[in-house]
Amino acid sequence: MSKNILVIGAGAVGMCTALFLQRDGHHVTVVDEREPGAGCSFGNAGFLSPDTSSPKATPNMLRQVPSWLLDPTGPLKVRANYAIKATPWLWQFIRAGRPTIIAEGMNALLGLHERVFDLYEELTDTSHLIRRLGQMHIFETDDAFAYAQQSNIRRRQRGITVDELNADEARQIVPELGPAIRHALFFPDNGHIVSPFKLVTSLAEKFIGDGGKIVRDAVHSLAVEDSTVNAVHAETQTFTPSHLVVAAGAWSAALAIQLGDKVPLESQRGYHLELTEPHIMPKIGLQSVERKFTMTPMEGRLRLAGTAEFAGINAEPDYQRANVLFDHAKKLLPGITRSDDRRWMGHRPCIPDSLPVIGPAKHVTNVHYAFGHGHTGMSGSPMTGKLISDMIAERSLSIDATPFLLSRF
Ligand SMILES: Cc1cc2nc3c(=O)[nH]c(=O)nc-3n(C[C@H](O)[C@H](O)[C@H](O)COP(=O)(O)OP(=O)(O)OC[C@H]3O[C@@H](n4cnc5c(N)ncnc54)[C@H](O)[C@@H]3O)c2cc1C
Repeated sequence: MSKNILVIGAGAVGMCTALFLQRDGHHVTVVDEREPGAGCSFGNAGFLSPDTSSPKATPNMLRQVPSWLLDPTGPLKVRANYAIKATPWLWQFIRAGRPTIIAEGMNALLGLHERVFDLYEELTDTSHLIRRLGQMHIFETDDAFAYAQQSNIRRRQRGITVDELNADEARQIVPELGPAIRHALFFPDNGHIVSPFKLVTSLAEKFIGDGGKIVRDAVHSLAVEDSTVNAVHAETQTFTPSHLVVAAGAWSAALAIQLGDKVPLESQRGYHLELTEPHIMPKIGLQSVERKFTMTPMEGRLRLAGTAEFAGINAEPDYQRANVLFDHAKKLLPGITRSDDRRWMGHRPCIPDSLPVIGPAKHVTNVHYAFGHGHTGMSGSPMTGKLISDMIAERSLSIDATPFLLSRF
């Protein structure tokens, strides 16, 4: 039966969800205080990685945290005035590094990501915005490469193609790589988005073209009666949908708490530095495994993206974290130059176990959640939208969504 559905959030997750719901014949409205794609979906690295299945809290990663925290140019920062606030989340993150939790998370994430290319294409024509030319993970040390090789056994068992390359072989694919590179992994089936913002815009245009409505407004409160949300109050209007989807990225916890759901959602603030005239341009996305940042070709510009900063939603950006990305990149691609570059900060919506929340709210009957996609939301958005539409239609799901349910907390 056709429902009147409101989706809060016009990021990649909200727009994919809105499109899948629209295809089911529902009357769908999307509300966002910004234009579509202007949140975290704007400035990310654009990697589309069907192979990505590793939760962030692995033992190897946790071992490196102390040295990262001591390095001002390192990939992780907890601002002093936010440390106490971040502690419960960080504690849950460490606990999520237990082997059984990691194994369950891997299966779940693989299911969420593996059909990313097909599903975007199913929603709208993305051929001009997505390049499936492969991705390369680059290594400066033998130790890091040896550790990554262990994961390749698991990857291959799951049917993922990954090529282990020495430096010369890597340079045949990416001639711009400098002498610091000792090894590489090449993922031929991965790819990148040439403009994440334009991708979300094209989803929004398709949605509007097919009769959907996008409203620019900020939702501030949800009214509940008889275990049902019966009104959604925004700055300039009130919505009365029969069903609500919360896809508000890093801002979602503030809405969920109004429904009695306390979700461990934290913003891991990421930065990008986009080089408008980089002088050289790799053809594929590169990920520095030791330095923990990415370099992606985007419409003639080279986007350097990464770092995780814990400082909350409202603190001012520290663009020094974006600036250091150039120094790191110069060590790997010595030919790059910098002039008139652009800097950006965005809020990755992160849950301690690296799995998003996809599924019904706990205490009200007409709300679904779709948020918390952390570092891989551009890869996880289409399947999330599909799952939410299948859940609302009470159809069987194409993957096991149990690991994503809020009831795990
Ligand atoms: C530096 C960096 C690099 C990244 N690289 C990659 C990558 O290579 N590949 C990948 O897959 N992922 C990557 N990510 C992660 C990815 O960007 C996110 O997971 C994804 O964008 C989350 O999408 P979203 O729709 O949930 O959130 P958002 O895009 O943030 O959308 C949420 C929307 O909700 C709106 N909203 C919030 N509250 C309200 C309210 N009360 N009322 C109205 N509107 C509201 C916001 O305005 C916003 O537009 C990266 C992230 C960062 C920061």
